[in-house]
Amino acid sequence: MIHAFPCGTPALDFVGTLRARRNERPAEKLDGDAALDAWFVEAGLVDAAPGSQGTDLEEAIALREAIYDLVSARRLGEELPAGARELVNARAAEAPIGVGLDASSPGDVRVSRAGSIRQGLATLARETVEIVGSADGALLRECARPECTQIYLDRSRGGRREWCAMKTCGNRVKASKFRARHRADHEGGDQADD
Ligand SMILES: [Zn+2]
Repeated sequence: MIHAFPCGTPALDFVGTLRARRNERPAEKLDGDAALDAWFVEAGLVDAAPGSQGTDLEEAIALREAIYDLVSARRLGEELPAGARELVNARAAEAPIGVGLDASSPGDVRVSRAGSIRQGLATLARETVEIVGSADGALLRECARPECTQIYLDRSRGGRREWCAMKTCGNRVKASKFRARHRADHEGGDQADD
């Protein structure tokens, strides 16, 4: 796996392919057609690489940023940006990834999923519409590790989830708090770690 899927839903994991958004140089995980193909396969949205080519990558990134703008606005209770809404709506009106029943081996019936990048983007746009336009929009949170900037759906009991993923961000913040406390104990200072 070259991509991470901590956000609880594909559209938000897709937004998370640009990491550390507020850093001077954010980390771009969709750095080529192969990475985009791999994302859709690893997300479980298609069974085989959709075959990204031509302007697919450019369009994928444009949609990703529009999704980010919409979920951010919804999370902050701001007006939805018109350009982003129009792009997501246009994509959501297109044909999504096709699904079917694969019963080629008796006793092992499964769902087959196939489509192009364009169909994959339609699937993500439709999901975005459902999140932003429903009660799920109130569950949008940004990871509490300031550098991270991942947005996820907080479906935890009591709505207390703080991190996109405990094993990455949660543990990093806890370890840095521990170091700061440890140093303060030993030096009598109160300097906080970053
Ligand atoms: Zn995080």
